Amino acid sequence: MNLLQKLLEIDTVDSRNGEKVVALIREEVGAEEFVVECDGVVNAVFKKGRGAFGLCGHYDVVPAGGWDNAFKPRREGDLIYARGACDMKGGLAAAVEAFKELDDALLIVVGDEEKGGYKGAFPVVNFLKKRSLLPKAVVFTEPVSGCGKKIKVGARGVMEIEGWIESKGGHASRPSSAPNPILLYKALLEEVESSFSNAPNSNLPPTTVTPTIVETPNLARNVIPSLLRFTFDCRFNEVWDAEKVKRIFKKVLGRLKGARAEFSIVCDYYLNNDKRLEAALQNAFEDVHGEKALLTCEGGSSDAVFFAPYCGVAEIGPSIRNMHAKDECVSLSELKALKEVLVRAYERYV
Ligand SMILES: [Zn+2]
Repeated sequence: MNLLQKLLEIDTVDSRNGEKVVALIREEVGAEEFVVECDGVVNAVFKKGRGAFGLCGHYDVVPAGGWDNAFKPRREGDLIYARGACDMKGGLAAAVEAFKELDDALLIVVGDEEKGGYKGAFPVVNFLKKRSLLPKAVVFTEPVSGCGKKIKVGARGVMEIEGWIESKGGHASRPSSAPNPILLYKALLEEVESSFSNAPNSNLPPTTVTPTIVETPNLARNVIPSLLRFTFDCRFNEVWDAEKVKRIFKKVLGRLKGARAEFSIVCDYYLNNDKRLEAALQNAFEDVHGEKALLTCEGGSSDAVFFAPYCGVAEIGPSIRNMHAKDECVSLSELKALKEVLVRAYERYV
């Protein structure tokens, strides 16, 4: 794949050189084009026909992280090694190749995915909405776990919880002289654990809260600390959503003297509700591979979260191989098959 080679040679860490990526793809596809720029991030939409079926990929990659020659692609048999080969210039190249064979489709090329998508997919969705150009469905060619044999149709949202337990502090020789934030934290942990142990199943995995940081800025071993800081990582589904988690936490914290917390949503959950899209992809996958792909909602969020309120969304892509790590790579034969699945899914869906 010549296009993939060229894409991998462009350093796109932090969405830099987006204009070079777009120029390269423009040369390949020759379709009506809209450029959506946001704070220096270049995004583009290519349109054929009415643009009913969307294919979307991000070109930005995570930093090389001490990997020399990360932007000098190296081929070994069926594998091509370079930063972004797997996540997700491989999938992007497959989407471009598929788009060339479609006649009622949108090709959506975005940056900023690795940083949350607020300068990438988010403004693109707003642009498409304003112009009444939103497609019926969008397929994201992100790498998906399960050796590429899974189709992702949802993901839980992410919320960070940071909190503090304050006390007046005191001498450890008189334990009852002051509330001890460490013991209050123990009570908090137990209450949180029992509150979430029966979080209901939904279409997405159950809501979870995981303690991640706990610290007391206490320098002396014989002092009851006056402050404890804690964080939780929360993954929420559509039933026990962010608001429900906040309510539970506030109730528990209300019972603990001197405790408070702040909540920040990193990204919302998404859930595809276009069953026809799922069937089209599953049947197309079976046509090409001779076996069934499983639908999954496991793993983190993606640009799909921005499109999900307006159209069908699904993610299908190559196997994960050293993603975000040194020697990230992608299988060329998997990309060839992926392109075929995309074309066949389009034929079944549109
Ligand atoms: Zn990605």
